[in-house]
Amino acid sequence: TAGAAAPPLSPGDFRELFDSVDAFLFDCDGVIWKGDKLIDGVSQTLDFLRSKGKKLVFVTNNSTKSRKEFAKKFGSLGISVSEDEIFSSSFAAAMYLKVNDFPLDKKVYVIGGEGIIDELQLAGYTGLGGPEDGKKTAEWKSNCLFEHDKSVGAVVVGLDPFINYYKLQYGTLCIRENPGCLFIATNQDAVGHMTDLQEWPGAGCMVAAICGSTQKEPIVVGKPSTFMMEFLLKKFQIDCPRMCMVGDRLDSDILFGQNAGCKTLLVLSGVTTLSALQDPANDIQPDYYTNKVSDFLDLLGA
Ligand code: PLP
Ligand code: CA
Repeated sequence: TAGAAAPPLSPGDFRELFDSVDAFLFDCDGVIWKGDKLIDGVSQTLDFLRSKGKKLVFVTNNSTKSRKEFAKKFGSLGISVSEDEIFSSSFAAAMYLKVNDFPLDKKVYVIGGEGIIDELQLAGYTGLGGPEDGKKTAEWKSNCLFEHDKSVGAVVVGLDPFINYYKLQYGTLCIRENPGCLFIATNQDAVGHMTDLQEWPGAGCMVAAICGSTQKEPIVVGKPSTFMMEFLLKKFQIDCPRMCMVGDRLDSDILFGQNAGCKTLLVLSGVTTLSALQDPANDIQPDYYTNKVSDFLDLLGA
């Protein structure tokens, strides 16, 4: 519907939406929490949806934690969510390798956090690099080669607060010199909320560094790529038209939902403002928008 701006979610719209879906897919940052703080009314809203038999799934591009650590974060915020309701881009990276029969005797070099290393390990893979290489320094001397492991068959890049020249050289050599080595990006978000108050450079900038040195494009497994969607559909056996994707970003969440044929709802509790949504230059329109997920309770008079 090019040109037509999405309408605000009315009580009538929501009743219809609510009755026509079996599952709500929630983006996390900007929808459930902002950095380390829970968004108002989320806990009651999720309880309400569960009490009405709706399936809840949480899809985050944040690769810094494993599903287990995300379940702990939910718990610490007072929300009970199980690991298998969580799809993080760290998990998606490991599942991409698994689904594509990546050999168990090949290694994976990680420019990113513990979340990726943990998910790789749970899937049976050996991750190298990650936080451990954060203190290493690259040295160049004449007649001296920088050594890298020739059995690395994939490089996974995600948000890495400890990225350095050593890791850039390591990942670059693997991709350029190991035959068939995969270049996987967990996500390409420009920025992320490290806390509720401020945005910081996201995984997109680490991924761009490796694109720059290798002149290759990554396989992206996070939103808006359909990989996670295909994977979670297989797991839960839900029809896309009977799911609603709720997110705060047009270019990741709303596109992710639309690419799969889900219903889409934008919330204004995260990065997208109403004026950005209504900007004529914006060509990604959700089905509806609302301020925050707890509006669900008011809209249904619950
Ligand atoms: N990656 C990182 C490192 C982040 O901190 C964030 C948000 O805080 C994201 C990605 C985006 O996460 P989500 O997809 O839950 O909005
Ligand atoms: Ca978000």
